[in-house]
Amino acid sequence: FTILAIESSCDDTACALVRSDGTIISEQIYSQKEHIRFGGVVPEIAARAHLYHLRNLVEKMINTSNLSWNEIDAVAATCGPGLIGGVIVGSSFAKGLALSQNKPFIAINHIEAHALTVRIPNISNIQVQFPYLLLLTSGGHCQCIEVTDVGHYRHLGGTIDDAAGEAFDKVAKMLGLPWPGGPALEVLAKEGDEDRFALPRPLYGRPGCDFSFSGLKTAVGNLLSDYDTTVPLPRTLAADIAASFQKTITQSILNRLENAIQMVSGISLLATAGGVAANKYLRNHLLNLANKYNLPFIAPPMQYCTDNAVMIGWAAIEILQQARQNHMIIDDIAILPRPRWPLSELSQRIHHKG
Ligand code: ATP
Ligand code: FE
Repeated sequence: FTILAIESSCDDTACALVRSDGTIISEQIYSQKEHIRFGGVVPEIAARAHLYHLRNLVEKMINTSNLSWNEIDAVAATCGPGLIGGVIVGSSFAKGLALSQNKPFIAINHIEAHALTVRIPNISNIQVQFPYLLLLTSGGHCQCIEVTDVGHYRHLGGTIDDAAGEAFDKVAKMLGLPWPGGPALEVLAKEGDEDRFALPRPLYGRPGCDFSFSGLKTAVGNLLSDYDTTVPLPRTLAADIAASFQKTITQSILNRLENAIQMVSGISLLATAGGVAANKYLRNHLLNLANKYNLPFIAPPMQYCTDNAVMIGWAAIEILQQARQNHMIIDDIAILPRPRWPLSELSQRIHHKG
């Protein structure tokens, strides 16, 4: 079967047509430029930009796919967590499409979609089986999760302050890099000396797998207070700080994740997802960690680490397949958009006996 999916929880307006065998029939994404001059995502502007762009993107996608509505089985959209204005726009648009075309609507949790991305056939070179250990690290989240089944996520640890992506973005801003900061910081760090500055690694060496990044961010701020920041920083200095920061945050993540590996048993592999998982330096170190424990390591291609609608469509496919196996019919039209929606509260979905 085929799903039309919509994602609008942050600053990417995205839609996709995804088939249950994992084929991406067609996809459109518009990464909002509207926020560049503000140096960060402005929620009100994001919501209006989704409203402005979504209709054209969906129309373009359907036209290029050559599919007719007869060949589309359901409509799915992110219903949370995320910036609520955008979530309302995308989910209401999707519900409107579903009702007008008489298709079921499937409400998707954005974090669940990130978590299931590695299972999309064709994007990984191995078939990812449950259970697996997942490092989910993005702009708003940083968590270690044991993914035991669709809808079943064991939270092993999470950040007690900032998300990793937030730390990347804030440090990038301090270094004078353009928004979005994470990718720009990675590029700059390539030129730098990662051993020049010793930065603190909050929670390093402690038991458990919670994360903390705000102390690291503050330490970079303190370091910069020794320099004149009214003029652009010398490039080598900025690069050395970027590299030292990237190394330190990677070491922190690896230390916490190593504890997580020891907390679970019987996992098939180590996986990662979320925008920060697009970082190649981090990916290389995650691969080394996985090798140390004889685990395969899977990371989605870059464009499916950051926000996209393909992962929303795929999550819908997994949910539908699970419902069919249990002779259930999904009807999520009454699910309302939520700014917060922890994975532990996924049972909201409305099932009818088929
Ligand atoms: P969430 O998924 O938690 O709701 P989000 O949707 O805003 O948050 P994503 O699109 O998944 O987040 O990820 C965006 C984040 O990833 C940003 O903080 C961005 O800086 C970071 N990021 C993207 N690419 C890189 C990179 N190459 N290195 C480091 N960070 C990166
Ligand atoms: Fe995201």
